[in-house]
Amino acid sequence: GTAPESDGEAQAWLEGHNRRFGLFIDGKWTSPGNTFATKNPGTGETLAEITQAGADDVELAVRAARKAQPGWAKLSGHQRARYLYALARLVQKHSRLFAVLETMDNGKPIRESRDIDVPLVARHFYYHAGMAQLQEAELPDREALGVAGQIVPWNFPLLMLAWKIAPAIAMGNTVVLKPAEYTSLTALLFAEICTEAGLPKGVVNIVTGDGETGAAITAHEDIDKIAFTGSTEVGRIIRKATAGTGKSLTLELGGKSPYVVFDDADIDSAVEGLVDAIWFNQGQVCCAGSRLLVQEGIAERFHAKLKARMDKLRVGDPLDKSIDVGAIADRVQLDQITAMVEEGGKEGEVYQPDCLLPNQGCYYPPTLITGLAPSSYLMQEEIFGPVLVSMTFRTPAEAVELANNTRYGLAATVWSENLNLALDIAPKLAAGVVWLNTTNAFDAAAGFGGVRESGYGREGGWEGLLAYTKPKAKAKQLTPITA
Ligand code: NAD
Repeated sequence: GTAPESDGEAQAWLEGHNRRFGLFIDGKWTSPGNTFATKNPGTGETLAEITQAGADDVELAVRAARKAQPGWAKLSGHQRARYLYALARLVQKHSRLFAVLETMDNGKPIRESRDIDVPLVARHFYYHAGMAQLQEAELPDREALGVAGQIVPWNFPLLMLAWKIAPAIAMGNTVVLKPAEYTSLTALLFAEICTEAGLPKGVVNIVTGDGETGAAITAHEDIDKIAFTGSTEVGRIIRKATAGTGKSLTLELGGKSPYVVFDDADIDSAVEGLVDAIWFNQGQVCCAGSRLLVQEGIAERFHAKLKARMDKLRVGDPLDKSIDVGAIADRVQLDQITAMVEEGGKEGEVYQPDCLLPNQGCYYPPTLITGLAPSSYLMQEEIFGPVLVSMTFRTPAEAVELANNTRYGLAATVWSENLNLALDIAPKLAAGVVWLNTTNAFDAAAGFGGVRESGYGREGGWEGLLAYTKPKAKAKQLTPITA
C-alpha cells in the first residue's frame, strides 16, 4: 500500500489547543469545562476533550446571535458575500488540515475527505456567496428569518455544517450550530476560520455537546428556525418539541434508498456505482443505496460480479490513501451494525469478504445480504453501515412497488440503457432525488431532501435559500378613497 497521509499538522493543531476545547460564542472562546472525550475511531485513541454545553451556554450563544442579527441582515448581499468568499477561500487554504482532522475524528477514508467532503464544502460557500450577491435582485421581497438553531450528525461533520451555515448567513440570519458529539473538531476549526475571515462576532456560534445540548437549542424560545439533520427518531422528537411554537423547521432524516438495476443495464458500471452507493463513507450516508433491486434475468451474474468487487475492497487505516472503506464513526455505531446483522441476517444469506480488519479501532467488513423477505427487519430498517440488502424483481411495475415499500423516501437510483424506461420509472419512485445511471451526484445548486419519513424541506438551490427567509413585511400607505 501507499504511505499514510501525515497527521502532523492536525496533531500540532490539537496540541496548540492543549487538546481541550471550549465553545465559540460571540466571536470568543469560552474556557473548556464539563468535557467529554472525542476519539479517533480508526485507532481508538482520544484526540481531545470537548465541552458539553449546558442550557446556560446555549442561552449565551442565542443572545449573541440575536444581538448580531440585525446588523448582519442590514449589510448588503454584496457585503455578506465577501465574508462567504473569504470562508470558502480559507477552507481551501486549510483544506489539508480540514481533511486530515475530519478523517481522524470520523474515520472516513482520507481520499474521500480530501477529494469529496472538503471540496464540496468550499463549493457550498462559493455558491452561497454568489447567491448572497443576488439577494436584492432575485429575492427583493424576502428577508432573513432571524436566528437559526442548527443540529448536525456525525457522518459528514463539516459538509453538513456547510449545508447549514452557508445559506443561513448568506440570507442574513445568524446561527447557533451544534455538531454531533463524536465529531466536533472540524466545526471548531471552522470557528477559527470565521475569526480569520473577520466575520462579525455572533454571526456564527458553535456549541458542542450531545442530545441534551441539542434539546436545549430546540427548546430555546428566542430561536426562529430549527434546521436538523439526523435520525428519523430524533427528528420526530424535535418536531414534537417545536410544535405549538412559532419556529420554522426543516428535517433531513434517514433513508433506505433503492438501487434498481434493469437487465439491460451496463452491468460493470452499475456494480461500480453500487460500490459508491453503499460503501462510500462506510455506508453511513443518509441517501446510501442500501437496498439493491436487480432484475431476475441478470441477478446471478450481477451478484457474482458484485462479490468479486467486494473481495477487492481495501478496509483499514482511514489515513491510508489507498483505502476504500475506513472506520465506523464510533463504537456505539459499530455495535449497533453488528447486532442488526446478527439479528436480521439469520433470515437470509450473509456474504462478507475474507478481509483482514485492523485489531484496534472500529471496523466492519463490506456486507451483502440476500434472500430476505421484503417485509423483513433488515429490508425495512436503516442500518447506517456498510451493509447492502438485495432482492430481485421481474417487471418494472414490481420494481416500483418494491422500491416504494419503505417508510422512507430520500433518494433512488435507476440503471438501464433504455432511457424511456428509466424516465418512466423515475417519477413513480417516492424519493427526493432520483439518479439515472449514476449515483451520489450532489450539487450546491440542487435542492436535496426527502419525502415521507425522510423529512421535509430542501437544502441547496433556491428551495434551500427560501427556507432561510420569510416574506418581507411591507408598509403600504393606502390612499383614502374620497368621494
Ligand atoms: P442522531 O439523530 O442521533 O443525531 C443527530 C444530531 O442530533 C446530533 O448532533 C445529536 O447530538 C443531536 N441530538 C440527539 N438527540 C437530540 C435531541 N433529543 N434533541 C436535539 N438534538 C438531538 O443522528 P446521527 O446518528 O448523528 O446521524 C445519523 C442519521 O442521520 C441517520 O439516520 C442518517 O440517515 C441521517 N442523516 C440524514 C441526512 C439527510 O440529509 N437527510 C444527512 C446525513 C445524515
